[in-house]
Amino acid sequence: MKQEQNEEEISEKTEDWDEEDVGKRIVKRVTPNGTYFNELIVHVFCSMCGASFIGPSREAGGFLGGHECLHAWEFGQAMGRSDGLTE
Ligand SMILES: [Zn+2]
Repeated sequence: MKQEQNEEEISEKTEDWDEEDVGKRIVKRVTPNGTYFNELIVHVFCSMCGASFIGPSREAGGFLGGHECLHAWEFGQAMGRSDGLTE
């Protein structure tokens, strides 16, 4: 078996990612919360409202989690019940 050379592309950007950056890796990203290493840039979307996001996998997780949480809350409101997501 011939081992394929898997050369990963690196993104030099630390912000303002777009479609061209999806699949590339961010070697180092410094944020007020900490420093992230070797993050993949991903493109995700919310199946509930169609919003989409391109950026580091960590932020993509936050995007998806945030939308999921919001839409769950919206459902709760529509059903006229409190499911603990309100204060
Ligand atoms: Zn959404």
